[in-house]
Amino acid sequence: MSADNLQCSFCGRKKQETNLLIAGIDAHICDDCIEQAYHIVSEEHKGKQKESIEEAFELRKPKDIKAFLDEYVIGQEKTKRVLSVAVYNHYKRLLKPSSKDEVEIQKSNVMLVGQTGTGKTLVAKTIAKLLHVPLAIVDATVLTEAGYVGEDVESILTRLLQAADYDLEKAQRGIVFIDEIDKIARKSDNPSITRDVSGEGVQQGLLKLLEGTTVNVPPKGGRKHPDQKFIEVDTSNILFIAAGAFDGIERHISQRLNRQAVGYSSAVAKDHIDSENLLQYISPRDLKSFGLIPEIIGRLPVLTHMNPLDRDSLLMILSTPKNALLKQYHRLFEIDGIEMEIDEEAKAYIVDKALEFKLGARGLRTLCEAVFTEAMFEMPSNGEKHLKVDKAYVQAQLDTQSAALNALKAAS
Ligand code: ADP
Repeated sequence: MSADNLQCSFCGRKKQETNLLIAGIDAHICDDCIEQAYHIVSEEHKGKQKESIEEAFELRKPKDIKAFLDEYVIGQEKTKRVLSVAVYNHYKRLLKPSSKDEVEIQKSNVMLVGQTGTGKTLVAKTIAKLLHVPLAIVDATVLTEAGYVGEDVESILTRLLQAADYDLEKAQRGIVFIDEIDKIARKSDNPSITRDVSGEGVQQGLLKLLEGTTVNVPPKGGRKHPDQKFIEVDTSNILFIAAGAFDGIERHISQRLNRQAVGYSSAVAKDHIDSENLLQYISPRDLKSFGLIPEIIGRLPVLTHMNPLDRDSLLMILSTPKNALLKQYHRLFEIDGIEMEIDEEAKAYIVDKALEFKLGARGLRTLCEAVFTEAMFEMPSNGEKHLKVDKAYVQAQLDTQSAALNALKAAS
């Protein structure tokens, strides 16, 4: 066939009528047909992905979910159990719509209370990874009531849509992690004294998202305005996990416990109260005393807490989880052909420093950076192939960076 007679074997168009004609062994294909075929393939792929999500849900019993969490999250046994059940029930409800007798299973949105760096975000990320669902992590402090500087609550769903590559169906089964929920607590008992634009108003705004309705979401975020196009997002199958440190809530808990302990049939006897870790006794009433409105508390029915991380947990976090910090550094060095060895004393020293900073496991990351930066800068060029990290090495590296670390300590 002469070059002028070539045509697309799929649509029959002549070479001159196409932008590009690609030759195969016995056939040709034009750019238009490639695009169409691509479209068909990706639709097919999406369908398959959906099936596999459903299979994943079906196969994961609470014990399997907990076992997966165990691989990444150290300690926090109670929370991992509670969350495994909450997630299981949430997706059970999603896959098995109301039965004949119309028993409606309510959403099991979660409230996680615990100090910074104890693994709240990590738990949410791990669950999203397990279920292959999109995850949006948002900070409640940037939210304000409509009409004020800040972001509308709907922007939360914009983030989720972005995380799902604008696949609406995927987004509607996703997870939203709202961090720092404690920062939108009501500031005073009498809301009329000052306008509380980032407090109670935002809580009211969040209510409708949490309970499950259809919300008009601006696809690119920003403030709503009249000529904008919206995407309608149904939030009834979105799992919300709210988290916060709730600094000072221990005071409310202990007051309540003391009141209860005086009573005749107290649930927790006064002399059995573990005053070092009062968060374990947290109840919805404490959240109310802290300044969350009852409607919000009611829509986050699964309430659980994170324990502060002790020395042993921090030591484990350094080396044990699937993507443990030290494993990551090992890998980074390995890529350059460098063998890194760290002894137990050195690890213990890093952990002691992290405890001093009171930043939970977050401190570990900063400290490790300080310990390894020098070697990561020098060794790829100087040809050394072995790095031995002992306590003296850690001390020396931290001393050279003491100014930065002191600033961190002051901030903690
Ligand atoms: P939070 O959200 O509670 O402030 P994060 O989940 O962001 O804390 O934790 C910060 C980092 O610390 C995580 O990326 C993780 O590496 C580590 N980390 C915190 N808690 C744990 C834990 N219980 N198990 C394993 N790693 C943890």
